Amino acid sequence: MSEDVRFLHSGILSPIKKWGTKWSLWPVHLVTACCGVELAHAYACGYDAERIGSLNYGICRQTNLIIVEGAITRKMAKVLRITWEQMPNPKFVIVMGACGLKGGLFWNSYHMVKPSDVVPVDFFVPGCPPTPEALIRAIVQLQEKIVTGEAKNSVEFKEVDLGKLLGVAEEVKPKKPPKSPKKVEAKPEIVIDKARDVEWKLGKKLVEEFEKILTAESITITDVNRICVRVKRKNLISVVSKLAKKFDHVKSVNVIDVPHENKFIVEFWLGCYSNKELMPVLVNVATEVPRDDPKVPSIAGIFPSADYMEREMHELFGVWFEGNPWMGRNFLLDPDTPKYPLRKDFKLEEDRFVVEG
Ligand code: SF4
Repeated sequence: MSEDVRFLHSGILSPIKKWGTKWSLWPVHLVTACCGVELAHAYACGYDAERIGSLNYGICRQTNLIIVEGAITRKMAKVLRITWEQMPNPKFVIVMGACGLKGGLFWNSYHMVKPSDVVPVDFFVPGCPPTPEALIRAIVQLQEKIVTGEAKNSVEFKEVDLGKLLGVAEEVKPKKPPKSPKKVEAKPEIVIDKARDVEWKLGKKLVEEFEKILTAESITITDVNRICVRVKRKNLISVVSKLAKKFDHVKSVNVIDVPHENKFIVEFWLGCYSNKELMPVLVNVATEVPRDDPKVPSIAGIFPSADYMEREMHELFGVWFEGNPWMGRNFLLDPDTPKYPLRKDFKLEEDRFVVEG
């Protein structure tokens, strides 16, 4: 029996305490991921989870239940723990979603933390995402646990012979879940500008036009609506400024780490919303920088939308975007996160959390 449930079962007034707690579950609003949508669904008018005595509340000091809605990252793990510590006893935790159970979609990501390593969990609700019915079931089960002190399984599982059921004669071999990839190819070939012979009239016209005005190493049609412009670092700003006359925003800023060639490839994907003909077209302006001097001019002065993405790439890879005032400052990652977690040679230190109760 957990400490919180034990508290409810002591003393002469315990039946009243149990009854009161059962019908007064106040889940703290701690939306961590997309499972939050299903939580909203469970509390909306269709399912109306409030009718079973549970209502979301915004302030952790007046709440007694955390519903962890999916993925918990290293940064969010601290928030989860701090929230849990601020809540008064008795308090409970329900974890919903495959991400909260074993990482789900992000099972081999560097930043995932199991909520059960951070706080004591009363119920897990599997699914991706779990249905509102499943969440409501967990709340009802928690109410049972508050009254009886025990977690009871509400479903009896029976072994089923799928072969017989489906009328398949041969024995069906059980499939094993995939294992996390422990190895990557030592020297993978990374080609970002492989030419493709595609029927794309506008593309050919654009390439001819770009060849006249841009100082580029190569200009290649890589697919329909895709052009790759490779440039030297010193020519990046002049190329992007000229392209800015046609393309009005940056869709994405990426970094590709190529350690065996001691370089990063930095890509700026330019797009256009203001010209209907150019709307589906994306131009990838790519430049290479040495890994030991990863400096690239910032294009945020030309396209303000690049600012946020440059900061992100700076924190994840350590690429320095010269001219962007946020370089060297912490923006997205927790201040304690070791430097540059997306570099291929980054080794993750295991986090340690202490679970009480
Ligand atoms: S379990 Fe599925 S729905 Fe829930 S947070 Fe993870 S990915 Fe999103």
